[in-house]
Amino acid sequence: MKRLFINIKELLQVREANTLKVSGKDMKVLPSLKNAFLLVEGDTIAAYGAMESVDTKNADEVIDATGKMILPTWCDSHTHLVYAGNREQEFVDRINGLTYEEIANKGGGILNSAKTLQQTPEEELYEQSRKRLENVMKLGTGAIEIKSGYGLTAEAEIKMLNVIKKLKENYPATIKSTFLGAHAVPENYKNNKDGYVQKVIDEILPEVGKSKLADYIDVFCEKGYFSVADMEAILEAAKTYGLTPKVHVNQFNAIGGIQAAVKHRALTVDHLEVMPDEDIEALKKTVTMPVGLPLCSYFLSIPYAPGRKLIEAGLPFVLATDYNPGSSPSGNMNQVVAAACIKMKLTPAEAINAATINGAHAMGVSRTHGSITKGKKANIILTKEIPSYGFLPYDFGNNNIDKVMINGEFVS
Ligand SMILES: [Zn+2]
Repeated sequence: MKRLFINIKELLQVREANTLKVSGKDMKVLPSLKNAFLLVEGDTIAAYGAMESVDTKNADEVIDATGKMILPTWCDSHTHLVYAGNREQEFVDRINGLTYEEIANKGGGILNSAKTLQQTPEEELYEQSRKRLENVMKLGTGAIEIKSGYGLTAEAEIKMLNVIKKLKENYPATIKSTFLGAHAVPENYKNNKDGYVQKVIDEILPEVGKSKLADYIDVFCEKGYFSVADMEAILEAAKTYGLTPKVHVNQFNAIGGIQAAVKHRALTVDHLEVMPDEDIEALKKTVTMPVGLPLCSYFLSIPYAPGRKLIEAGLPFVLATDYNPGSSPSGNMNQVVAAACIKMKLTPAEAINAATINGAHAMGVSRTHGSITKGKKANIILTKEIPSYGFLPYDFGNNNIDKVMINGEFVS
């Protein structure tokens, strides 16, 4: 099947195959072709160029994109999309004045999600999760990372990872999975955090490692959750199973998690709402990418990661949703891009780079995803008629997507 898009007003994020991420000043540039065509063959981007050079003869289907733009689908490198139930009651509690920490102390928060998940059969968990995945695919997400971490027992963590595996098998979106056993200290280890860390290392991690169900390892490194020493012990143990770190750090406090993550060659450090200068400095000239999660800041009314400052420091900034029931019950990357422009002062070009090519690299898929490049997966967003790509974040909250294609097929 050969599908040809013609008269594309602007084809965005057109790059050579050797660009796997963009950093600092380069993020200001969003390479594009105006009045272009794009040829998709099977599940692959086969060709593109100026309309003057288009050849319509061999196409099975021709799609007229007059007035519309095409960009690669979003790459959402940080989500907790597999969860059971919702937490809108806590949302109301927060409106009525309780803090995130007070809700956690009341047995709410992550532990509330863990209790519900442990009681939910795998089939039911899959049903709830697939609806969320279908929804974000329609919103333009073509590659997504999903974490475990609401199980907190070997059995329930494996159940979550199995659900992620089934999603991988049944949907065209590319999915990477991350083991986040150290997401919270479970109720029965309340006064024995060290015991739980040891259980993660000695019991849960080996099962996950054997099962080959995870691509990455994550730890919630934060006061009241897991210390830097806990995180380092878990990352060290995960090396045996070939799991690369992608970690939660600096959400509420800077406690040295970034320096430790860099030491362990983490692919990403995520959250970064609290970011002293020495932590920004620690990321320079490393393989570790900073990831901002603006919808979490919006939903919790906490500071935003300093995206502008991180880009000005020359770093490859990434944007993701943090889709989860407690602090970001939305997986909408369009909203993330808008929030990054409005609240982090990124330009639309920087935000789109952070949410496509850099998002792809932040989950190890930038050789196949994240840009319009010959040979990459045909994962594209066809917009409605829009005046310029800056209109996408400007017109926030409105849906400017006409069609989404993943692996060469339209998402319906
Ligand atoms: Zn998260």
